[in-house]
Amino acid sequence: MQTISHTQTANYIGGQIQPSTSGRHLDVISPLTGQILSQVVLSNAADLDQAVKAAQAAYPSWSGLTLKERVQIIFRFRSLLEQHRSELIQLIHTENGKTPDEAAAEVDKGIELCEFACSLPQIVADQVQEVSRGVECRVSHKPLGVVAAIVPFNFPLMVPMWSVPNAIALGNCMILKPSEVVPLSAMRMGELLAQAGLPAGVFNIVNGDREIVEAICDHPQIQAVSFVGSTAIAKVVYKRSTANLKRCTALGGAKNHLIVLPDAAADMAASNIAASMSGCAGQRCMAASAMIAVGNSQHIIDKLCDEARKIQAGKNLGAVISAAAKARIERYITEAEQQGAKILVDGRNTFVEGKEGGFYVNPTIIDYVSPDMAVAKEEIFGPVIAIIRSNSIEEAVRIENNSPYGNAAAVFTQNGAWAKYVMENASAGMIGVNVGVPVPREPFSFGGWNESKFGAHDITGHSSIEFWTQLKKTTIKWNAEARTNWMS
Ligand code: NAD
Repeated sequence: MQTISHTQTANYIGGQIQPSTSGRHLDVISPLTGQILSQVVLSNAADLDQAVKAAQAAYPSWSGLTLKERVQIIFRFRSLLEQHRSELIQLIHTENGKTPDEAAAEVDKGIELCEFACSLPQIVADQVQEVSRGVECRVSHKPLGVVAAIVPFNFPLMVPMWSVPNAIALGNCMILKPSEVVPLSAMRMGELLAQAGLPAGVFNIVNGDREIVEAICDHPQIQAVSFVGSTAIAKVVYKRSTANLKRCTALGGAKNHLIVLPDAAADMAASNIAASMSGCAGQRCMAASAMIAVGNSQHIIDKLCDEARKIQAGKNLGAVISAAAKARIERYITEAEQQGAKILVDGRNTFVEGKEGGFYVNPTIIDYVSPDMAVAKEEIFGPVIAIIRSNSIEEAVRIENNSPYGNAAAVFTQNGAWAKYVMENASAGMIGVNVGVPVPREPFSFGGWNESKFGAHDITGHSSIEFWTQLKKTTIKWNAEARTNWMS
């Protein structure tokens, strides 16, 4: 395979770097400095068609291997991720702007996702039962064919890894559409899969924007689409691909509420909430975005402010993705201030010395926010937390329930009954008890509720096995003489 140049990022189709025929491209900009890293092609339907043909050509022999044979390549890929860990950390840090520590956590989580795929032969065994004497029913998981994954900018390696290892290990051939603002880590992933021995055409990358996403939703030979991104686009992709009779799971945006009770372990809660709201510069779908302070929780708010002030751009806080994102986040803060909310910690107008072209916002804490303000309701996707004061746990849960989203919710308390009340009544797919970022570890699956996810399946874990396969049910009369086959 050719070495990927950082001056041009093309497509990866059938084991080859392929230019796009569209003639369109986009600058890839490092959020750390504002410098141009590469130019990525913005592909069209003809490029996609080429990728689908390559995937279709690879499918018969790839799906004809046993699951145990296929995962040998994932084992080697996992080792390569470990060997290239430092280089991947640097790539993610540079193209996405998160800190090297956060990029390291991303690579490590990617490795864990590979480990789940490596364990599939232990999980995906056929079920067989003798249903009548001499007659067996067998259920087996079969791949779907050519499938696609469309991913966002905030985890350039890890979010692709939610879909790619499981989908291909289960026998599918895949087309990945990376985020056009961070295509470099995904291209490196393609190189490492090839180095691990993955046959050409099993994994393909088609770079681009809206045009290629719509082409994926419309392509008649693509059987299933996983999507991760904002709710507005998740709805478009879910509706368009299911209207074209594809299977789709589409993960959307989030507005995660933390309910903080006065009895919470104050130091732990404060550092956990500060880390949740500011990790990856708040650009995580699991980030704490609204905190509901129940009763007198002032001592926890004070400590949270102290913790947030220790987090500083250029030291232990990364950049936000673009100048437009910085402007959007600052607009939300200013609007809340104008509406009467109190800015306790202000992260606007942040610059990092020597990186004046980068896009930085320091942690921001906004108090006395009312539930109808935009900072309370909308996804900000920056290191900002809106504090809503509440008199009761019931009211706090009602506020959480009123959010159209439902990715994560968390409660901070030492009282088991209150924790249980929130666990049972919060309307979110992933719940934390004294955990600010309640991401389920493998093998438990990842996925929200409400407008944070469309489609029946979660994107990882056991749920993803059902998503990327179809069931074949076979009834076998081994002994032709058996007369106990009651159906015929
Ligand atoms: P985005 O929705 O803008 O983009 C996601 C993908 O959709 C990209 O590949 C992009 O090229 C494509 N896209 C963008 N506009 C499109 C359009 N008009 N038509 C068709 N395709 C389009 O999201 P983003 O800004 O890259 O990522 C941030 C969002 O992703 C946040 O809302 C965040 O909450 C969400 N996210 C959700 C999860 C989750 O698990 N629920 C995980 C990570 C990120």
